Amino acid sequence: MQLNGKHIIAGNFSKTGSDNFRAVNPISGEELAVDFCEATYDEIDQAVQQAEVAFQHYRKASGTQKAKFLEKIGDEIMALGDDLINRCSQETGLPQGRLQGERARTVNQLKMFAELLREGSWVDARIDTAIPDREPLPKPDLRMMQIALGPVGVFGASNFPLAFSVAGGDTASALAAGCSVVVKAHPAHPGTSEMVGRAISQAAKACNLPKGVFSMVQGKTPYVGMAIVNHPLIKAIGFTGSFPVGKALFDAAAKRDEPIPVYAEMGSINPVFVLPGALKERAESVAQGLVNSLTLGVGQFCTNPGVVFSMESAESEEFATRSGELLQEVSTGAMLTSKIRDGYTEGVKRFSETEGVKILGKSKQDVSASAAAGHVFQTDAQTFLRQPDLSEEVFGPSTIHVTASSKDELMKLAVNLEGHLTATLQATEEDLEEYQDLVEVLERKVGRLIINGFPTGVEVCHSMMHGGPFPATTDARSTSVGTAAIARFSRPVSYQSFPQFLLPEELRDENPLGIWRIVNGERVKGSL
Ligand code: NAP
Repeated sequence: MQLNGKHIIAGNFSKTGSDNFRAVNPISGEELAVDFCEATYDEIDQAVQQAEVAFQHYRKASGTQKAKFLEKIGDEIMALGDDLINRCSQETGLPQGRLQGERARTVNQLKMFAELLREGSWVDARIDTAIPDREPLPKPDLRMMQIALGPVGVFGASNFPLAFSVAGGDTASALAAGCSVVVKAHPAHPGTSEMVGRAISQAAKACNLPKGVFSMVQGKTPYVGMAIVNHPLIKAIGFTGSFPVGKALFDAAAKRDEPIPVYAEMGSINPVFVLPGALKERAESVAQGLVNSLTLGVGQFCTNPGVVFSMESAESEEFATRSGELLQEVSTGAMLTSKIRDGYTEGVKRFSETEGVKILGKSKQDVSASAAAGHVFQTDAQTFLRQPDLSEEVFGPSTIHVTASSKDELMKLAVNLEGHLTATLQATEEDLEEYQDLVEVLERKVGRLIINGFPTGVEVCHSMMHGGPFPATTDARSTSVGTAAIARFSRPVSYQSFPQFLLPEELRDENPLGIWRIVNGERVKGSL
């Protein structure tokens, strides 16, 4: 596909601004061909206005129509073939194998939402039939289900240029819910974004959907994103990125005349607790697993294990030392952008200069323009508790071992944690018996608890919770991965005393879609 560097506004191309920028290859440091351009307010306004027009039609599309659309998007993405993988690799420095895997994940995610829509029960239909002769007052007929929220603004993330970007989980779940979408492409991979954006547009056309169901604007300053958040017709935002930006979007949305929800997935250091039995039994394999998880994708995952807690012992000392040694055998490559590399360098410098913190190991660093070395640090619980900086995310392949002198101190470390996406326990059965209270503390701190695994690797499925209490996200009640992500972009409506013909099919007596419903308190599939 020949890139044109234009925004996609309701099926049309546009480029009226003058503020150009180019993608940069993070390995060579060279600018890549094709000028992209900061969107103007008029272009953003057009995109949102058209999203509102399209929403009035698209929100009424059947589950089958929306499912076909999502599947067609997947087909169109696959049809981009190696062009997409090559451009994406140039823009991100990520290896082709990783990107092929990420493309498969993106397409499977779309298919999973398609299946959810075909099955149809996600609308959570509830029916309470009338009791006209109830005393002292008659009970009315009440029926409730989820309907689409409205036009949604989505920010593409830098670290998953396909699976969390233009056609990623936020877009897929919003389209599945029946919302139209306006994407703000991430400036680190504008060419990849254009290709995927054009694939979505093409799919909308092939499925005879209104063109404004999808638009995508490019930008390299906060102006574009903020204009989307502040547009009065936008009803929700999906975002993955840094804490300061996620919080700024959340604050801006709360200050609008009509505040809207911002589902921002932000920083997390994903604590790993290595308990005494596990240390005795398999310190070497846990150290190896930790280093693998830490350096995967040059550590640029929101689920990267950024802190490891254990109890002081000869085994824990050996475990920490060994993880430092194992890291030295790994070669870490280019980070996604020089901005991300600079943030990482600053973070590891801060750790290195903190009194009471020592470096146990550093990975080899290749010669890429934005290469960064992995780091394993070590400190004690007192220093960690005293220095809040050490609890902040250093986005990249850096982790810190923290040793506690007693179980009480380990519990204190857990109680002191802020919200995170995940917490992991490396433990034997005896450890788990003994540390049940730790599990209870961690349940309140994170969205996903893992036993004897590592936090990287987020399965896309119905039971995935990829979110967590603030500051990991701005809404602990929601996930950005898996089919439950659809709930972010819908809202419940009750229909009281409605005639059958005016009800959505999902709520009619005969249950024409054959979905699961709660009828008078019982979950059933039949008709009334
Ligand atoms: P970012 O700085 O949070 O930016 C994400 C998106 O928000 C970009 O599209 C950016 O576009 C836009 N943006 C930036 N500042 C804005 C503002 N004030 N108002 C409105 N929009 C704004 O993330 P990044 O560029 O991907 O990486 C920077 C850092 O984010 C990383 O070093 C890392 O710490 C963190 N990060 C975390 C995760 C995670 O999953 N936890 C994932 C990715 C990144 P413009 O650049 O065009 O403004």
